[in-house]
Amino acid sequence: MRETVTNWARTITYDAKEYQHPRTLDALRALVADAAKVRVLGSGHSFNRVADPGPTGVLLSTAALPPVIEVDQAARTVRVSGGVRYAELARAVHAHGLAVANMASLPHISVAGSVATGTHGSGLANPPLASAVREVELVVADGTTVTIARGDDRFDGAVTSLGALGVVTALTLDLEPAFEVEQRVYTELPLAGLDFEAVAGSAYSVSLFTNWREPGFRQVWVKRRTDQPAVDFPWAAPAAEPLHPVPGMPAANCTEQLGVPGPWHERLPHFRAEFTPSSGEEIQSEYLVPRSAAVDALNAVDGIRAAVAEVLQTCEVRTIAADPQWLSPAHARDSVALHFTWVRDEAAVLRVVRELEAALEPFDPRPHWGKVFGMPPAVVRGRYARLGDFRALARSLDPAGKFTNAFVADVLGA
Ligand SMILES: Cc1cc2nc3c(=O)[nH]c(=O)nc-3n(C[C@H](O)[C@H](O)[C@H](O)COP(=O)(O)OP(=O)(O)OC[C@H]3O[C@@H](n4cnc5c(N)ncnc54)[C@H](O)[C@@H]3O)c2cc1C
Repeated sequence: MRETVTNWARTITYDAKEYQHPRTLDALRALVADAAKVRVLGSGHSFNRVADPGPTGVLLSTAALPPVIEVDQAARTVRVSGGVRYAELARAVHAHGLAVANMASLPHISVAGSVATGTHGSGLANPPLASAVREVELVVADGTTVTIARGDDRFDGAVTSLGALGVVTALTLDLEPAFEVEQRVYTELPLAGLDFEAVAGSAYSVSLFTNWREPGFRQVWVKRRTDQPAVDFPWAAPAAEPLHPVPGMPAANCTEQLGVPGPWHERLPHFRAEFTPSSGEEIQSEYLVPRSAAVDALNAVDGIRAAVAEVLQTCEVRTIAADPQWLSPAHARDSVALHFTWVRDEAAVLRVVRELEAALEPFDPRPHWGKVFGMPPAVVRGRYARLGDFRALARSLDPAGKFTNAFVADVLGA
């Protein structure tokens, strides 16, 4: 019987001919060389069909390959195999007194799958997680390995690549000395009169949460590095107890708050590695717009707040520094990301997504590659000035389109 494989949220059932989890690199190479169509599944935390190979394709997991986490203390780098998740990576590098610069809201996601979709955390000076990558090792269509390092002309296409170039078997990342972070949550920040730059710049990583039931933010999560100066936060009152960003969910699932300093990897994500992140019963969407338009974009969402609130669990607003990766949603522009954790009602969510996209249209929104969006492919393509370079790179490494699925074909316009 064919194995049923779903994404983490169980909102997508992958439509694959077979599901393979090779145990050795040689087996993986042979599988790739023999297959006509392949897509890799990371930890399955995407909400759309980006990883789906389609009915004639092979869905390939790297999770059964021997995990590799090789820290080079002197060079301050780490080489990780494709299936490793941030939680494992963080524990290993922290044990060497080192850190990655930033993390997403959860540590459960695979490193390769995260950087493939442009996954990001928050911070005015923090680009997407892909910016830490200095080298990518790929098993390409003919089963051979291609290594692309920073400095190579192809590098800016090779990290945020939607899995369209080959199987990422390893990545080498830059590290920095481990640091401590203290996290405080502030409550009830009004939208009227919001000094977005000051709020977002008040600490290393700042996230604003709202349910859009009223025009303001229920919570602001402020993550301050203890090696950086403290900045006052006069705009809202500090919470007296730990909070969860999704109403009704237990704060015990979240990383420590109330200003207790702790290691970077136990504060930068909102959710603890050992618990279910977010709510679990959800669909997600996210749009990146220029940071200079942050307040206008928030006011545009406020204009359709009732419709949004109807199907929303929580909305998170973060900042992301510009990124050179050709397919990064933060490509060449400092961005603000408007994220929506919806209820799990696909039809109702899609209706609101269309309304939201129309409201954000004046700001050239780029959707997160791992989340639900409804914009026509041609519109999305028009937002990526270096798309032609990416298309040429994909064709040079994968001339027959073995790693192209319907989602990627829409992106490439092929
Ligand atoms: C609860 C929750 C919270 C989230 N929080 C954030 C957040 O804070 N910030 C953010 O930006 N996003 C966030 N996301 C989205 C998530 O980070 C992305 O969807 C990311 O791609 C997930 O990684 P994954 O390994 O699960 O990817 P998958 O869904 O498994 O795959 C994503 C893409 O990567 C490709 N891929 C995976 N592994 C490989 C490989 N080894 N070689 C080649 N291609 C590969 C797949 O083919 C696919 O195209 C969140 C998602 C959830 C469910």
